[in-house]
Amino acid sequence: MKKYRILVLSIMTIAIIIIFTSNPMSNLNKGTGLIGNIIKQNEQSNDEKEAKDNKVNDNSTKEKNKADQKEILICIDPGHQEKGDRRPEQVAPGSGQTKARVSSGATGVSTKKPEYILNLEASMVLKHILEGKGYNIVMTRESHNVNISNAERAQLANDKNAKMVIRIHADSISNPSKTGASILIPAKDGKYTTSIYEESSKCANLVQEKMKNDGININGIFERNDLTGFNWSKVPVILIEMGFLSNHSEDQMMSNPEYQRKLMQSVADGVEEYFLTN
Ligand SMILES: [Zn+2]
Repeated sequence: MKKYRILVLSIMTIAIIIIFTSNPMSNLNKGTGLIGNIIKQNEQSNDEKEAKDNKVNDNSTKEKNKADQKEILICIDPGHQEKGDRRPEQVAPGSGQTKARVSSGATGVSTKKPEYILNLEASMVLKHILEGKGYNIVMTRESHNVNISNAERAQLANDKNAKMVIRIHADSISNPSKTGASILIPAKDGKYTTSIYEESSKCANLVQEKMKNDGININGIFERNDLTGFNWSKVPVILIEMGFLSNHSEDQMMSNPEYQRKLMQSVADGVEEYFLTN
């Protein structure tokens, strides 16, 4: 029994020595310090997580925008066709006034290329760029040997529920020195086009802005109330006059594939800006 008493006493003594030689406050601090560090680490990883989450949100917003673009249908109308059709059609729904259904367009003074060929070339470039951006595209024509009137082209976009129509043309005028692109839109006070004026105008302005930034010679945006293709449209519409076939150098420039890409890239960027900001 004595042995045990000594053993118990020694254990107690050792325990007392340990308790008194250690610094309980510092141990407590050490403990809370450790807890503090754990809390800090948690906060940090929460911050990191939040930053990551924000990044994911940013990306998913972009992805969402891109996904939204895929729902958007754009109609591209390469102006004119191989053979014009002089038969009359109403310039607007219910109008007593008529115009030729469709013409073959102008011809390049230097290239001798007919406008309907140039228009389709550029339109296919535009189609490719817009599809690359995720838009759905419907073309009024993809060949030259067709007979689709201007009113029918507008109605095609209406029926397909397109969100924008882009008509591609080239200008021609008796003054051979005149150059530059133009954008035509339905007139604000046009009897048939009031409801599509505002969106057409917004889109045209954004396209014009991109063209200017890309160094393209642009004469401005012009309202028209006399175009059959505008008057029948229930869809906002812009018409790009790419330049003048009646000017030697501009005619050649418009047939240059590099210039076509540059010009159509500006148009596509402007249209994309319109859909991303509307
Ligand atoms: Zn034309």
